[in-house]
Amino acid sequence: MNNYKILFIFFFFFFFVANSAMSDGVGKKQSELTELKDGIWLSYDIPVCFENPRADNRQGRNWVREAVRETWELHSSIKFTGWGKCKSSNKGIRIKIADDGPHVKKLGSKLDGKKNGMVLNFTFEKWSTDCKKSLRYCTKAIAVHEFGHALGFAHEQNRSDAPNECRAENKQGTTGDIMITEYDMLSVMNYCNPLWNGNGQLSALDIEGVNKWYGASNNIYTESKNSAIKGHNKIKLERVTVSQCKVACDKFSWCRSFDYYKRDRACDLSSQSLFNVALKTNYPNNPYNHYEKNDRKTPRYGHVVNAAIKGHNEQNLKRVTVKECREFCDGYDWCKSFDYYKGKSACDLSKARTGGSIKLKYNYPNNPYDHYFKK
Ligand SMILES: [Zn+2]
Repeated sequence: MNNYKILFIFFFFFFFVANSAMSDGVGKKQSELTELKDGIWLSYDIPVCFENPRADNRQGRNWVREAVRETWELHSSIKFTGWGKCKSSNKGIRIKIADDGPHVKKLGSKLDGKKNGMVLNFTFEKWSTDCKKSLRYCTKAIAVHEFGHALGFAHEQNRSDAPNECRAENKQGTTGDIMITEYDMLSVMNYCNPLWNGNGQLSALDIEGVNKWYGASNNIYTESKNSAIKGHNKIKLERVTVSQCKVACDKFSWCRSFDYYKRDRACDLSSQSLFNVALKTNYPNNPYNHYEKNDRKTPRYGHVVNAAIKGHNEQNLKRVTVKECREFCDGYDWCKSFDYYKGKSACDLSKARTGGSIKLKYNYPNNPYDHYFKK
């Protein structure tokens, strides 16, 4: 009946407290919660290793690798790397091979470096013995589901908008915090899927979800050194690099900018932009750099030397290059042109463009301006 859709994601500020695993037992019914804080991966490279690789489980390991390559990797910017034997120091996803119910101990990046964080079954002697007849099919389909958890996706049937009969029968494990797509009956993460684990094939909405969440981004960030927006912080990330903050900001359409705290390697994501809230530039010791998201396609500009539009100044920017003025103007539909003050490294962004009564003025004394307009 429905071909609506969804994936769930776990994320920073969800404080479900629990200590049990996300278990995927056929016929097992549990309702456990897992702590979801910091569930998102902030890198597109995620290491994977096996705790107990042996010659007799090589085939299974190859099937797992093949399964994730054909699904999650194919439809996102994620690369699962490594795949060797775990050393004690290995981060990322650590897989134990055992004849138990396959499961993950945490969701998403909470698995990072967790010993035996994912359990996969390659033999099915004791658990789900039907799979002995179709080892390849079962191993791959289960791997796709468990790696979905490892990327932070919860069970689709747990969603509040899942059909009642499906939820009541199958709700299991942690419920997600963010719904990336519509409810998806056909998701590999949905126990109510008429195909078991979706046959290990991502549905259209699974693909849309992983692409939205882990796809490449075209966003450009413009840096304003030694400044920040005071207050207006929505999410704080700690022990992160600037590029990790960008990956996080990319994921949220509300995120317009972030301030990076240089000494503490932390950032605050914000829904505000320096066009709504003035940048503060006089913090003692200048602990912050500000990064402004520009998610628009880059327009082309015409350039008129020694000219400007008089008045019509919407936003003044100081200590900026022409390139930076362009990047700021790129980010805002209302910005149609800007005048650059050559001697002062400043510009005025404008809603105006030449035409009608608006004309370029060419006779400023000493010609301090150049005019740039979006084509
Ligand atoms: Zn599961």
